Amino acid sequence: MEHILQAIQSGAGGDEIAALPLPEAYRAAHVLRAEQQMWDDVPSEEKDPRKSLHVGEVPTPELAPDEVYLAVMASSINFNTVWTSIFEPLSTFLFLDRLAKESVWGARHAQDYHVVGSDASGVVLRVGSAVRNWKPGDRVVVHCNFVDDQDPSAHDDSMLAANQRIWGFESNFGGLADLAVVKANQVMPKPSHLTWEEAAVNGLCASTSYRMLVGRHSARMKQGDNVFVWGATGGIGAYAVQLVLNGGGTPVGVVSNPDRVRLLEAMGCENVIDRAAEGYKFWSDEHTQDEGEWRRLGKKVRSQIGEDPDIVFEHPGRQTMGASVFITKRGGTVVTCAATSGYMIEYDNRHLWMKLKRIVSSHFANYQEAWDMNRLIDKGAIQPVLSQTFPLEQVGDAALLVHKNQAEGKLGVLCLAPSAGEGITDPEKRERIGEDRITLFQRHARGEL
Ligand code: NDP
Repeated sequence: MEHILQAIQSGAGGDEIAALPLPEAYRAAHVLRAEQQMWDDVPSEEKDPRKSLHVGEVPTPELAPDEVYLAVMASSINFNTVWTSIFEPLSTFLFLDRLAKESVWGARHAQDYHVVGSDASGVVLRVGSAVRNWKPGDRVVVHCNFVDDQDPSAHDDSMLAANQRIWGFESNFGGLADLAVVKANQVMPKPSHLTWEEAAVNGLCASTSYRMLVGRHSARMKQGDNVFVWGATGGIGAYAVQLVLNGGGTPVGVVSNPDRVRLLEAMGCENVIDRAAEGYKFWSDEHTQDEGEWRRLGKKVRSQIGEDPDIVFEHPGRQTMGASVFITKRGGTVVTCAATSGYMIEYDNRHLWMKLKRIVSSHFANYQEAWDMNRLIDKGAIQPVLSQTFPLEQVGDAALLVHKNQAEGKLGVLCLAPSAGEGITDPEKRERIGEDRITLFQRHARGEL
């Protein structure tokens, strides 16, 4: 891939890029089918992604007519990278085998390795014969909604498509690699003021938060809404806080240490709760929740903003859902996209129906929503929450930090990009938006806040 990197760095045009020979194999982070039982009987917290995520050469797959080959400059760690690497709740080889049954092109995905990664920034190298909107040389970012658009169910809201998948999690040839195979309808223009790694981290988390809060499929946040955000400096939470501020709402952000409190305040979130300092214990034992603790949290929120939240941005799951339903205002909305601490959820239904609250489920975003979120980033209204950057060889170390809840915002991964800081093509725009705003999470990680 060295010749491809050189061509990109020297500013080669589309025709030159299109003429570059493609390698027969490429470097990729992957898990192995032969190891999918390696963690049987090991508790989740002891599973170490450094042992299951390998970085090595895999063969270059054939390109389908509706796909592009992407030279991946940077990618990011998502929580789904952690799920794949710990083989929970399922081995992702089950997803690949199911995809393989759908079509000839789907069959490529069932390999003995799974190349992971659901984010990428990079340069288009080749396009399939059916691709109209992209050409070699285009600098792009990728969103991870993987949909067969010949299925009628994909045409109202593609997240409702019968065969909707998350690229690099439920499909192979993902972004944590030097090369990726991406459907043309996953590609979006790269924000010109961002580095490769700043551009790479947004796709999955930012678009997920967008769909949860903004638009007709969401909790329908409006100006003035109070939005309670769990994990407010985490991947999806940090974009949620920015969307609330950008949309004229009031965020109440929850984090678990004073360092994160400082970061959240630096983001402009004035109402912050340190859940560790408060010592909330919503479960008194494995089977029993403590309504008194839900009440204590609700009082804390009222003491800060004088009202109950219109919206609760929920993703921790079992540990917090009872409290989330309780503290939401009468007629308000809990919007959920995940269950990090357990998916068998319990809440007191009386607090839901008697106060006419609703629970809205959400999952990633359709192309239009991802595009609209990318546009907000391109305009400088929403900033990337990249905190640290790792070389691809250290993908396991980065995934371990996310697994252990030891990272803020997003962790970037350099693939072809040899060092951080490359890829900006509009430095004036960057200056206009403000270096300090763009790099807030990076400065925090360096201890500069
Ligand atoms: P991160 O690890 O980056 O952030 C999660 C945050 O949640 C942490 O920073 C932590 O903040 C908080 N948290 C963790 N455990 C608990 C708990 N038991 N109680 C309260 N807060 C907790 O992950 P992401 O933000 O990237 O993802 C969060 C979840 O959303 C994951 O399960 C992920 O798989 C899922 N997800 C789903 C998507 C979808 O499309 N459906 C898309 C993206 C993510 P603190 O400790 O500071 O409170």
